[in-house]
Amino acid sequence: MIDVIDADVAVIGSGGAGLMCVLHAMEADPDLDVALISKGAVGRSGCTRMVQGGYNVVLDPADSLELHFEDTLEGGQHLNDQELAWTLVSGAPEVIRELETRVGCFFDRAPDGRIHQKAFAGQRFDRTVHRGDLTGIEIMGRLRDQMFRLGPRELEDVRALDLVLDADGELAGVTVLDVMAGSFAVVRARVVVVATGGAATMYRIAAPAREKTGDGVAMCWRTGLELRDMEMMQFHPTGLLAGDSRLTGAVLEEGLRGAGAYLLNAAGERYMERYDPERMERATRDVVARAGYTEIMAGRGTPAGGVLIDISHLGAAEVERRFAGMVARTRQIGQDLARGPVEVSPTAHFHMGGAVIDRDCGTAVDGLLVSGEDAGGVHGANRLGGNGVAESTVFGARAGDAAATLARSRPLRDPDPDSVAASVERALGPLRRAGEGPPRTGKGPPRSGERLPFPLTRALKETMWTGCGLVRDRAGLERARDALEALRERAAALAVPGGAAANPAWQEALDLESQLTVARVIVASALAREESRGAHYRSDFPERDDAGWLRTLVARRGEEDGVALDSRPVALARRATR
Ligand SMILES: Cc1cc2nc3c(=O)[nH]c(=O)nc-3n(C[C@H](O)[C@H](O)[C@H](O)COP(=O)(O)OP(=O)(O)OC[C@H]3O[C@@H](n4cnc5c(N)ncnc54)[C@H](O)[C@@H]3O)c2cc1C
Repeated sequence: MIDVIDADVAVIGSGGAGLMCVLHAMEADPDLDVALISKGAVGRSGCTRMVQGGYNVVLDPADSLELHFEDTLEGGQHLNDQELAWTLVSGAPEVIRELETRVGCFFDRAPDGRIHQKAFAGQRFDRTVHRGDLTGIEIMGRLRDQMFRLGPRELEDVRALDLVLDADGELAGVTVLDVMAGSFAVVRARVVVVATGGAATMYRIAAPAREKTGDGVAMCWRTGLELRDMEMMQFHPTGLLAGDSRLTGAVLEEGLRGAGAYLLNAAGERYMERYDPERMERATRDVVARAGYTEIMAGRGTPAGGVLIDISHLGAAEVERRFAGMVARTRQIGQDLARGPVEVSPTAHFHMGGAVIDRDCGTAVDGLLVSGEDAGGVHGANRLGGNGVAESTVFGARAGDAAATLARSRPLRDPDPDSVAASVERALGPLRRAGEGPPRTGKGPPRSGERLPFPLTRALKETMWTGCGLVRDRAGLERARDALEALRERAAALAVPGGAAANPAWQEALDLESQLTVARVIVASALAREESRGAHYRSDFPERDDAGWLRTLVARRGEEDGVALDSRPVALARRATR
């Protein structure tokens, strides 16, 4: 028997989407019993806290929702779900006011007293609200204060494993694992909100928080939800390069390019001249990241395999004033952004793909909501910088409102004991196999020696970086697909030593399983999309093909755990393409 925890609403993830959801649900109905399940420290984990540049929102009368909407569609190369994109831009003004006046965030002000809005790439108006260059800490710190006031039940350092249904196939809750204690429980809930922040971490160079490993998306996949736009993985153009340091991949924010930073190759050329002479460094992320990658691959990069960003021409004092956080970050690795060029590389940053949702974060499973980076559709083929934290807070708020309403009408249900047992056994697999000696997968000889998952994780990251990264082609993707299948077999045979309590190797094995699940769908989708659009660039199909491919790829778990793909025309409900 495992513990059962009852709640009206279970929220999985404590980033911007998770905390906004808790806030809205509990304010909509103060009697709600909300359980907040967080793999990382509550309110201090995930990527919302890492948000540097800021938050896109229309506040200036000279700007307009229509313009923000069009910029978002242009950036997303018209693959966006237009209803979701409109929901984002039209909801952001109210949410930023809420963040300021009710949640208590302080954003930078212009000399005339209005909220300061800065330039971000791919936008025709300066609409990015910020707190210096560390905006996420301000938002998350204040949201966390509000959460303490409301007092949800916190399950911290607790990893959600699987969504579980009752005997009639209705959503009944979620199985969880207390990472430190090694104990399992099932949270029975009327409504479950998945907000685990997606996963761009299965690449060699990556920016997001390390505990984000696609768990939420993998959970949705196993439950049979449709996933969309999974081939759309965004690479940020300027990740730090710092050898084996954990800071490799950490982002130098987009506002630098907005403020006039140059991107240079090793010969000192402003190489964006070659790729987008009009917008130069202020082109959208997909274009700038690919340009950097192409320079590096053409041998015009630095010896460490990077390019350079230089903003020192603004003067050291100005750079230190405007980008204090970024300057501090570069000094940590012995470089100095205020005084000279800093070595950078494209870094995997954000997954535009995710679960199919409606405007209120609803899914095909009654009672199951998905919010934030775990959901797909808002950003299409490429997210604009500044639209991510807007997404997590706008849709987090909507999920909270919807959850409060839904919880009134949905009863608590008893999870099917077999599903709960299967979830626990699946998670325990790597430990069980270690207890039973060398494992057999039924496919090939038993593999001894595969006791630690770390080499497999490294192989996964290398596979995705080289086979399904910034520049893709059929042969490389097929190699990646085959390599992932081999890795899946090895992962399924892992026999991890040590007990269940506080066992990092076991946790890594569970992370790896989620990452492999998501990576497989990314590669299958990337193989299917035979054109180039936004973040998805195929060197064998280098052109965007609106006639053939203004279509959304939707993936679903098929027979024998295969990836079943379907493509659907984009509903041009509000705007045609230009
Ligand atoms: C370095 C960096 C800088 C960025 N800068 C900007 C910016 O300037 N502007 C912008 O708009 N966007 C920016 N983004 C993107 C932005 O951070 C994301 O769009 C957004 O924060 C995602 O919010 P979220 O709530 O979906 O997920 P997150 O904030 O990432 O939260 C995920 C939560 O889920 C938890 N979790 C994960 N797995 C599990 C599990 N199995 N069980 C329980 N809990 C789990 C994590 O511990 C965490 O609490 C940046 C991203 C990065 C990485």
